[in-house]
Amino acid sequence: MRTSAITLAALLGAGLVSTNAAPGKEEHKETPMLPDQPWHVHDMNRPVPRVVTPGATFSHGAPAPSDAVVLFNGTSLSKWKSAKGEAGWKVEDGYMEAVKKSGDITTKDEFGDFQLHLEFATPAKVEDKSQGRGNSGVFLFGKYEVQILDSFDNPTYPDGQCGALYGQFPPLVNAVKKPGEWQSYDIIFEAPRWDDAGKLVKRGNVTVLLNGVLLHLKKELIGETRHGEVGTYGKPQSRGPIALQDHGNPIRFRNIWIRNLGEYDKP
Ligand code: MG
Repeated sequence: MRTSAITLAALLGAGLVSTNAAPGKEEHKETPMLPDQPWHVHDMNRPVPRVVTPGATFSHGAPAPSDAVVLFNGTSLSKWKSAKGEAGWKVEDGYMEAVKKSGDITTKDEFGDFQLHLEFATPAKVEDKSQGRGNSGVFLFGKYEVQILDSFDNPTYPDGQCGALYGQFPPLVNAVKKPGEWQSYDIIFEAPRWDDAGKLVKRGNVTVLLNGVLLHLKKELIGETRHGEVGTYGKPQSRGPIALQDHGNPIRFRNIWIRNLGEYDKP
């Protein structure tokens, strides 16, 4: 079914990435084709993932394992920074909240292959629609976005809904909770590999569970996240930070920890 109700806000998509879509371009038919897929970037004709109601809890409140780096324990943004210097998000009652125009926040530390746990809540007060509703995102290496959006009865282009590898792949299913409810992301990332000459030899891949429901299994990233275009891989990079997106919506986060995956036979 064609939908023409997509808003300019929808076109703005992921704030961390360049936004160069022309105003009024409503159905993304002028965006390039995705490689090896029969869809344009942000194609509204792409099938909508089916809805799965998650169980009541999965990893909510999961305590950090002993080898994890705790990135946010509910009280301090000391592990985070922003382009302006200090991370300017609000911290209260055990969570942090994105403050409009305060910018994205990025971890001071960098990581290679990792397992990341975090919890988030989109605003209980539902405002706007499509990409304007409850938008944030988790940027792996600061450049590959796992989308956060209020996708509870909120149509948008499938490769931009909650759990999408933004602009590349929709989630396998839509397993979001209601606005205002805490949700858990468990994300496993294998970083891209380059050879000594700087040639990409293995794409990065992502495994994502949202509220205990699998959204992606070792899904290979096409490249860096872009809005309205096909991203490519940039310079060789074996480690990178985690970034959380300020898309102008007061998204809350809590209980964020990360652990390096390690290697077999290298205890
Ligand atoms: Mg986003």
